[in-house]
Formats: sequence, C-alpha cells, structure tokens
Amino acid sequence: MIPGSFEYFAARSLPEAVKFLSEHRDDVKILSGGQSLLPLMKMRLSKPAFVVDIGRLPGLDRITEDGNSLVLGALVTHTQIESSDLLKAKCPLLPQTATTIADVQVRNRGTIGGSIAHADPAGDWPAAVMALDAEIQIFGPNGERRVKCDEFFLGLLMSVLEPDEIVTAVKVPVTGNDKTAYMKAAPRSSGFAVVGVAVRLAVDAAGTCSRAAIGITGVTDKAYRPERVEQMLTGKRLDSAIIQQAAAEACRNVDPIEDINGSAEYRKQLTEVYVARTIEAALKG
Ligand SMILES: Cc1cc2nc3c(=O)[nH]c(=O)nc-3n(C[C@H](O)[C@H](O)[C@H](O)COP(=O)(O)OP(=O)(O)OC[C@H]3O[C@@H](n4cnc5c(N)ncnc54)[C@H](O)[C@@H]3O)c2cc1C
Repeated sequence: MIPGSFEYFAARSLPEAVKFLSEHRDDVKILSGGQSLLPLMKMRLSKPAFVVDIGRLPGLDRITEDGNSLVLGALVTHTQIESSDLLKAKCPLLPQTATTIADVQVRNRGTIGGSIAHADPAGDWPAAVMALDAEIQIFGPNGERRVKCDEFFLGLLMSVLEPDEIVTAVKVPVTGNDKTAYMKAAPRSSGFAVVGVAVRLAVDAAGTCSRAAIGITGVTDKAYRPERVEQMLTGKRLDSAIIQQAAAEACRNVDPIEDINGSAEYRKQLTEVYVARTIEAALKG
C-alpha cells in the first residue's frame, strides 16, 4: 500500500500546471483531492513518474452564479456542494447527489473536477451532469475549450481530455421549478453506484411533462441518457403507468456490464426499478 516513487510538483498557476503536463505528458498525473488517484497509486495500478498538484490553484474552489447558470470550479469538493445554500436553492440535484457519495472523509477531499476527469463508470457525478446537460470547461496548451458532458465521457476511465489538459470548471443550469432527484443502488462497502439515476423534469401546472432529462451511471462503461425514456415521458401526464412503461426502456440499446456486483440482467432490472423510483421521487419533490 505504498506508491512507487515519483517527482511531486505543486503548480502555482494553470499555465504552469499545463506546461509541466506538456513536458511529461506520457508519464504524469494530476492530483486534485487524491481520493481516486492515491488508492490507484498505492495499489500500483497507476505508476506515474511525475505528479502535478493543482490543489492550491487560486479561484478553482468557488461556486459562482453566471446569469441563469452556476459555475463550479474544478476544486470544489463534494462537501462544499453538499452544504452550498446557493446550490440548494438553484440546483438542488447537485447537493442531493453529493450526500450519496462515499463518506465524510472522501467528500471532504474529493473534487467535482477530479471525479469528472476520472470518468469512473460507477461515479455519481456523471449521471447528475448528464441530466443537467452540463458543460465541462477545460484548459490546455491551446487555451480554453468547452465540451458538452454527453461528448466528454468516452468509456471506462476515458474522456476527451488530452494528457496536458485540465478540467477547470463544470457549468450547470439553474433548474428553477424543474423537479429533480438522484437515487442509487450501491454496495455499503464502497458506495459506488451499481445503478445511479439522476432525473430532471419540467412539469406544468396541469402535471404534463414538457421536458425530461435523465442521466444513468453504473450500468455501462460510461454514463448515458436513455433517450427513449425521455421521449416517452415528454408531453404526457406522468402517472405511474406511464412511468413504468417508460422505465422499461431504460436499457434499450445499451449493453449492461457484469461484475461482482451483479449480472447484466440484474443491472437491467435494477435500472428499470431505479428509473421509475427516481422519477416518482422527483415528482414528489
Ligand atoms: C472509499 C472511497 C469511496 C468512494 N465512493 C464514491 C462514491 O460513492 N461515488 C463517487 O462518485 N465517487 C466515490 N469515490 C471517488 C471520489 O468521489 C473521488 O473524489 C473522485 O473520484 C476523484 O476526485 P479527486 O478530486 O479525489 O481526484 P484525484 O483522485 O486527485 O484524481 C482522479 C483522476 O483524475 C485526474 N484529475 C484530477 N483532477 C483533474 C482535473 N481538474 N483535470 C483533469 N484531470 C484531473 C487525476 O490525474 C486522476 O487520474 C470514492 C473514493 C473512495 C476512496
């Protein structure tokens, strides 16, 4: 449980961090909260020769309002999100999701930027950001670029990030009167989602759903939006028959993974149950 030796560099600015990454791009890792990187290094599943610590970069640990959006700096911790009054008022899906992550120690250190960059298929944030249509802000040698989250995740621990790029922020909408919820089925030992479902519904006064966005994590090698479910909910009054029918389509066109936590068939059934439950929970508020 001791990592291999590596050279540690504490960056003082984003350009300095990117320069270091560019110089060592084949053998360097970024350190944010260390809650995923350090266990991997201790198990020697990751053996970088260089580690660049971005934990002290100024300005990346803030949650700010930008018109009808909210911008979470990459170093904002799960605990900051969980306890943010701004987010509770304007985008409650995020604090609700944060409370489900691991334990207090992990939430105190782990960051949203690190979680998104890590692209763990069982992580909670990928589902939430998909349901929110979030934008991922990235800084690299060519300056800043912005990527919609549905294009960001490529597969197991893979994203569109180049080795010398840093996630700097996650931009989400103010969700206003939309109804949102996050629920997951997870083994008590790790807390990682076997199935995690984030829901955002726009429902009018008559109870008709005018827009549905759902993010699902834990089921395949990357988080996804079940488009057929969203289509089946849109334009309907959401009674339990409609919800059940729509939820049954949650694994259409996806190939659920099999691992020690469950077979593909088990995950499929669990996904259907959790999609229905999470929609019901969002509607109840
Ligand atoms: C016991 C335990 C239980 C956990 N349970 C859960 C859970 O239930 N749900 C859940 O979602 N997560 C869980 N996690 C993971 C946790 O949420 C981590 O905080 C998160 O995955 C990574 O964030 P970090 O800031 O710690 O990143 P780090 O560990 O520092 O980095 C993770 C990876 O991302 C890269 N990286 C980090 N920051 C950036 C950046 N800004 N730009 C580009 N690349 C970057 C690193 O180089 C590394 O490859 C758990 C972790 C532990 C140890």
